[in-house]
Amino acid sequence: MKIAFFGAEGKAGSAVVGRLEAAGHEVRGIELGDEPDVSGCDAAVDFTTPDAAPVNVRAALEQGVSCVVGTTGWEPGELGTFAAERGLRLFVAPNFSTGAVLMMRFALEAAAHFPRAEIVELHNEAKKDAPSGTARATAELIGDGTEIHSVRLPGLVAHQEVIFGGEGQLLTIRHDTTGRESFADGVLLALEKLDELPPGLTIGLETLIS
Ligand code: NAP
Repeated sequence: MKIAFFGAEGKAGSAVVGRLEAAGHEVRGIELGDEPDVSGCDAAVDFTTPDAAPVNVRAALEQGVSCVVGTTGWEPGELGTFAAERGLRLFVAPNFSTGAVLMMRFALEAAAHFPRAEIVELHNEAKKDAPSGTARATAELIGDGTEIHSVRLPGLVAHQEVIFGGEGQLLTIRHDTTGRESFADGVLLALEKLDELPPGLTIGLETLIS
């Protein structure tokens, strides 16, 4: 596929682009200040900032190109309808790592057996939003006002613990992203399945993993 990649030189972008190219995709990197020209591309991918993502997505959709978005800390709002009206797809996932999606699935299963849970999410200090999109999505799945604690420190990549407390027992479900290449698995899967999705907005890698 020919892929326009917003934020190709960022930390996540550069790791993902390498894997996309290794898988045989042709990538056109679009950086801050570049024209958002996605003409001739089969899909656009965005790993930028919460402010830039909606602008980039709208520009891509206006040019008739479906989008896969990894940027967190923004709301797609009416862009889902904007995509649907044009018969295009907007796929947004707060976490493109397959292990993190499984962590959320296992947490949902555990939630049925424990009265309370809290989430600790730990990310590199450069991460702009807190709590993380994955933590918010996990808390929503578990329900009951699950509290989230955010840690931002150098040395961290992306980590999350879901701690369940019960009478005389604790259960901790933990996922560690040790390299940003892990996000490429989910991006590759989303690109492969993009055309099979219904037009409009689809949220979450879990919708693609059976
Ligand atoms: P980063 O290193 O700061 O990279 C962001 C990149 O986007 C930078 O190269 C930046 O350029 C560029 N950029 C900024 N505005 C742009 C615009 N208008 N058009 C094109 N490019 C633009 O951050 P990161 O760690 O890679 O993370 C990027 C986003 O992805 C964050 O929201 C993060 O939370 C999210 N993320 C999501 C996942 C997931 O699995 N869903 C995984 C990792 C990261 P400059 O440096 O010149 O400003």
